Amino acid sequence: MRRSVRSCYDGEGGYVFAESPDAIARKKGISQIARLASNENPFPPPETVIEAGVAALRQANRYPEASPERLMAALRRCHGEYSFIIGNGMDGVIETVIRTVVDPGDRVVISTPTFSFYGLAATAQGARVVQVPREADFSVDPGRFAEACRGAKVAFLCSPNNPTGNACPIETVREILDATDCLLFLDNAYVEFSDIDYRPLMRDYDTLIEGRTMSKIYSLAGLRFGYAFVPPWLAPHLNRAGTPFAVNAVACAAAEAALGEAGHIERTATHVRRWRERFVSAIPFPVLPSDANFVLIDVAPLGGDEASARLAEQGIIVRSCRSFPGLEDRYIRVSIGEDWENERFLAGITQL
Ligand code: PMP
Repeated sequence: MRRSVRSCYDGEGGYVFAESPDAIARKKGISQIARLASNENPFPPPETVIEAGVAALRQANRYPEASPERLMAALRRCHGEYSFIIGNGMDGVIETVIRTVVDPGDRVVISTPTFSFYGLAATAQGARVVQVPREADFSVDPGRFAEACRGAKVAFLCSPNNPTGNACPIETVREILDATDCLLFLDNAYVEFSDIDYRPLMRDYDTLIEGRTMSKIYSLAGLRFGYAFVPPWLAPHLNRAGTPFAVNAVACAAAEAALGEAGHIERTATHVRRWRERFVSAIPFPVLPSDANFVLIDVAPLGGDEASARLAEQGIIVRSCRSFPGLEDRYIRVSIGEDWENERFLAGITQL
């Protein structure tokens, strides 16, 4: 019944996953693999977070709370009095936002090269995806971006941006918001690794959504928990459009505990900043300045696939950036891992 498959899913494409460390270990006969392809936190979550998750699992015979009040209170304690929605990862939040505002044929704007899921989720909803290329240094021209937003339903701006690592100055975001009434989804997955706080913008604009995830600095990628600051008028519509019980009870309990673990955030941020500097000085290729927990490396004259395949020979998984629309095939993206992983990577890239 192949004819039942929608044309957007009938060919190539889709989300690009990191190679399996187990498969590489088996193939290369290497016992420990350096996992530097997915911008995760290399450190496991704190013990209190694990205990909260286990306690919730003991009651997993029950559905999660429809509106988890303690978790919402923890978000308000952490950030202040904002409206929040939660989701199955920030991916879940992105999907809900698109489902809430996009009709088939509507325009959705993205700033390329960037995280792929905005385009995939918009396509799934039947949107027309408009790509606005970034400048040569990967900064965003606010005038050009806002111009493309005219008449669009929602625009996605990632800051710090995946895969380039650079952040948009607050003033740039403000200029975009001033110039358009299109909804702007500002993806702050990596914001805790930067010095920028975009939250005050939420007070000034009712067209802004700021997405956050616990997959990065909070060490909970495997649990799938994301949330967003949303304008109060939009919250009830998002809740109506969202999948019922999208966030499982274990993730809610662990996320609530994780929000209280400031020490874990601080330690991770310090580790990332220290290694980010070392990467810039020690890697024998141009490294782009980064505000995130990864760096983009220009490996020309090698292509991304070739460089990553050669590193994989040494048990190091990094992300070839060949599949990112809007990026020439000469880059790899490398996450900051544990000390031994970073040391192995530095030894490996020096040999390329
Ligand atoms: N936004 C960006 C920029 C990302 O890089 C990622 C994941 N790599 C996500 C969103 C998705 O986050 P989550 O794991 O919370 O779905």
